[in-house]
Amino acid sequence: MTQYRSVRGMVDILPEDSCHWQRLEAVATGVLQRYGYQEIRLPLIEATTLFARSIGEVTDIVEKEMYTFEDRNGDGLALRPEGTAGCVRAVVQHNLLQTPQKLWYLGPMFRYERPQKGRQRQFHQLGVEGFGVATPDLDSELILLSRALWQALGVDSLLTLEINSIGSPESRARYRDALVAYLRQHKSALDEDSQRRLESNPLRILDSKNPATQELLEQAPSMGEYLDAESRQDFDDLMSALDAVGQPYVVNQRLVRGLDYYNKTVFEWTTDALGAQGTVCGGGRYDGLVAQFGGRETPAAGFAIGLERLILLMKTVGDVPMASTDIYVVTADIEAQRHALPRIEALRREFPDSTIQMNLGGGSFKSQFKRADRSGARFALVYGESELADNCVTLKPMRGEGEQVTLPDTQIAAFLAEKLAETKGD
Ligand code: ATP
Ligand code: MG
Repeated sequence: MTQYRSVRGMVDILPEDSCHWQRLEAVATGVLQRYGYQEIRLPLIEATTLFARSIGEVTDIVEKEMYTFEDRNGDGLALRPEGTAGCVRAVVQHNLLQTPQKLWYLGPMFRYERPQKGRQRQFHQLGVEGFGVATPDLDSELILLSRALWQALGVDSLLTLEINSIGSPESRARYRDALVAYLRQHKSALDEDSQRRLESNPLRILDSKNPATQELLEQAPSMGEYLDAESRQDFDDLMSALDAVGQPYVVNQRLVRGLDYYNKTVFEWTTDALGAQGTVCGGGRYDGLVAQFGGRETPAAGFAIGLERLILLMKTVGDVPMASTDIYVVTADIEAQRHALPRIEALRREFPDSTIQMNLGGGSFKSQFKRADRSGARFALVYGESELADNCVTLKPMRGEGEQVTLPDTQIAAFLAEKLAETKGD
């Protein structure tokens, strides 16, 4: 028989991990709500051309990483490698740009890459996009919103903010020419990848990890000298806003981001705690993309967080998964279970924030208590023969929280309310 395995780079999130995901999602939706951002849910599949045109034909994503296919109708489709293109497509299609929009989405993205720690073929992003604001107060708000999330998750001390301005398309083209002119003089010293990029996508050479190439770049012309006045002013305003809230940052003139649609401010949050896959979040302005997709000229900016990497960070600071079972219900036999069921349903309604598990599948008291222990329950509620006869129930603390007591059914809710309110370990 065939033993099926998940496809390489496509990862199951098991119950022991899903609790971290649930906490992350709950915290993130809370932060987004507090900043006034609304959720938009988008398809996982879009026309291939949507990505090729926005991300750029000569980017790694489009050249090497996209999952593309033809459907039965012969239409060229792609599993989304990122969320911005689809989001822009949607806001144009549904005419949402009459007023500024602040949107977010969360879900799987797909890229054919070499799987390793923090790099998968199906991975998840939380994307946040703001439309219709040209001023850098949007840029700083996006950065502060991401910072608020780091703080709420307790990982802020592990992350460094890097910012840069890549200017207007015109100033970037001028810089690109200067960079190419410089690097051409040293072409033979460039690594192979960078030699190829010299013709196709020279700004990406700034990203090269090759030591010889990095050394060459030390003397290369720098982006800042080529910035247009408006981009320079916006960048200064952004830095003032960050200074005003005491958010430290590093200006990294080699930060270009991998996608074609960016302009002006770009930023990343990086960490040393995850080895090579150190970028947890990246974003920036993309003022030209809406018009490129047939919408009215609309400035925009956004960012995406790699959630697998964020979860890895949460684990390094000892993220505590959500509470396990509070109460485990042990019953003598099927008759006792039938007796207990309506009473337990009533308790579940009364304590909506508690987890109450009914023992399923019978078993001796001994094996039921073993399961109760494994569930992590603080208390067992026991319905044995004498409890049934007397309309009582026995509450047995499982974690050394006092003595076992037997109470009439009518008193159990009040007693439990008191017990559950005490935090563990008090
Ligand atoms: P990298 O340089 O790590 O490949 P990127 O520049 O391709 O990142 P973006 O397209 O900017 O990444 O995506 C935003 C974030 O999504 C990244 O900073 C990262 O946290 C996450 N991410 C990107 N690709 C993957 C992947 N294959 N697996 C897991 N997370 C990813
Ligand atoms: Mg990448």
